[in-house]
Amino acid sequence: MSDVLLEVSGLSRRFPAGDEELTVLNNVNLTIRRGEMIAIMGASGSGKSTLMNILGCLDTPSEGAYLVNGQDTSAMNPDQLAELRRDYFGFIFQRYHLLDDLTAIGNVEIPALYSAENKLSRQARAEKLLNRLGLADRMTHKPSQLSGGQQQRVSVARALINGGTVILADEPTGALDSHSGKEMMQLLQELHQQGHTIVLVTHDPKIAASAERVIEISDGEIVSDITNDNASNKHSVIANSEIDTSSTSVAEQKKANTFTSRPFSAQWFSFVEAFKMSLSAMSSHRLRTFLTMLGIIIGIASVVSVVAIGNGSQAQVLSQMASMGTNTIEIKPGSGLGDRRAGRIRTLTASDVNALTNLSFVDSVTPTVRANVTVRYASEVVTAEVLGVGPDHFRVQGLELAQGQLFDEKSVVSLDQVAVIDNNTLNDLFPDGDALGQVIFLGQLPVRIIGVTAASKMAAGNSDSLNVWLPYSTVNSRIFSQNYVNDITVRVSDDVSSVAAEQAIINLIKMRHGVEDFFTVNTDTVRENIEQTSSTMTLLISAIAFISLVVGGIGVMNIMLVSVTERTREIGIRMAVGARQADIMRQFLIEAVLVCLCGGALGIGLAYVVGLIISSMSSGLSLIYSTNSIIAAFMCSTLIGVLFGFLPARNAARLNPVDALSKG
Ligand code: ADP
Ligand code: MG
Repeated sequence: MSDVLLEVSGLSRRFPAGDEELTVLNNVNLTIRRGEMIAIMGASGSGKSTLMNILGCLDTPSEGAYLVNGQDTSAMNPDQLAELRRDYFGFIFQRYHLLDDLTAIGNVEIPALYSAENKLSRQARAEKLLNRLGLADRMTHKPSQLSGGQQQRVSVARALINGGTVILADEPTGALDSHSGKEMMQLLQELHQQGHTIVLVTHDPKIAASAERVIEISDGEIVSDITNDNASNKHSVIANSEIDTSSTSVAEQKKANTFTSRPFSAQWFSFVEAFKMSLSAMSSHRLRTFLTMLGIIIGIASVVSVVAIGNGSQAQVLSQMASMGTNTIEIKPGSGLGDRRAGRIRTLTASDVNALTNLSFVDSVTPTVRANVTVRYASEVVTAEVLGVGPDHFRVQGLELAQGQLFDEKSVVSLDQVAVIDNNTLNDLFPDGDALGQVIFLGQLPVRIIGVTAASKMAAGNSDSLNVWLPYSTVNSRIFSQNYVNDITVRVSDDVSSVAAEQAIINLIKMRHGVEDFFTVNTDTVRENIEQTSSTMTLLISAIAFISLVVGGIGVMNIMLVSVTERTREIGIRMAVGARQADIMRQFLIEAVLVCLCGGALGIGLAYVVGLIISSMSSGLSLIYSTNSIIAAFMCSTLIGVLFGFLPARNAARLNPVDALSKG
């Protein structure tokens, strides 16, 4: 085999240095044939590494052409260059450049992972390679648990796993002791014997002497190119090698589909691999992951629980409103709530009630007369609120009957001495619970108990109060001897506008009284106001919660940016062994989305805990979690992951492999 594999012509590389340009490589021409072993020598700073980086497609020339196996690299995009690196080149660096979080096997597998080889076969080949390199008992060790020589052997295995047609070794013995250095050189010799093309940078003439061709660089130019025919013979002693070279063919096999678009199964495969990588990255940096999540957890928890509190309190208000009845208008004496003269105005009467009943749009009318009266049964004496009401009162107030019956219109007309008592009164006067048919005394008036209401479920009002309901006519004529009532509640028919009805009622009563010595409270208007207030509150708190979500997202982005910076070397290594921009991008995006989704789940959990604490502290309020808000929270956290993870992921993917590597 003597065909040309790598061909450099008229190559220059310049770096910007302030306002000027630094020419590091100047018009370099070099042809490397398949199977050659070349040593590049030169003083420090002469441009050896720069040339190696260009040969390995980690860097691109400023001028000139570079052909790999006849393919012009200048026309290739970053992804095509990545595929070229993956399929042709194996790097051995002075500082090994292994990934600290992965085991020896894990490190060796990476290049195969980016060529979409399945887990089992790439693991088997990695094990085989490590075995051959004498690391059988170090497979699951992390780089920090390996000696320098062992780490370098792991990186040789990594260089070989995809075939390693060309092995680029930049001062591979620079960081090793002399014994390990010798072993490394023997290893490279063996690989050379087996047909690998080897380019080796060294400044040790003894090492260079072992190569069959020695190139010397000075100030960016090739000053000598000597072929040493004896070299390979000198070291053929170790030709009896055990390293399997069958893998050389891998690159050639793959070359066929290198630049074709990837099928769906390969996409899915690399997604799964990226997912696993993200998981292991997250679990090996738990604190960082948790801190990243914290913003999202708090954001999502506050959104979900604020919406739940909002819904809960709205439901509470609405259930209290329900006890006021729908479509009701209350008529009270005075000029408004809190009018102190109201008690002396006695113009609302039973005849007003009758007049209102005759209005076409009125469904029902119930007057109320109130008095605190001493209630007596046998030897028990209590003070209760006696309410003279109409038969519709119970329906309007949402009171339910537990025992017996209610009084009707006939009882009102015939001034029956019958009463309905509430649960509290029952417990106070009749500890044995048997009240129906018993006669109690309201002051001097004996009344018979015909019904008992159920205990109210609502926290509204004073839950300790004792209530006794009688027909209002009975209270007016038999207890007070008066004909006015304290207030009147009108229930308007469902199909009538309550505002128009309210106006008509005001007009009627004003006409009857001659003056407007009363005011009305329209429950519909009150309800609308309360609903509006509570939805304004929900909006306000949601806005605050949303802001905390955004702040959380910015936190995620910050940590992701920091993590990209922190992991620049990792990105450089991955790219050097064949990761394409899309692979890097995918890994970081998946990590961001995973972090945000976990944060979202924890946030929802936290919201439930907050809900438990709140409802155990205030008995009235129970939080209502809406499925919508939970779904929205999850979508939000995914969106935040994609949105705020995108920028750092793109930054990571756009890194120049050489720059990324040098930041180790
Ligand atoms: P060596 O032969 O020691 O490996 P290098 O190829 O690493 O030398 O570097 C050659 C010269 O190019 C040095 O002077 C170095 O400062 C310069 N150089 C290398 N990389 C960069 C870079 N990314 N930006 C600017 N100057 C660089
Ligand atoms: Mg160097």
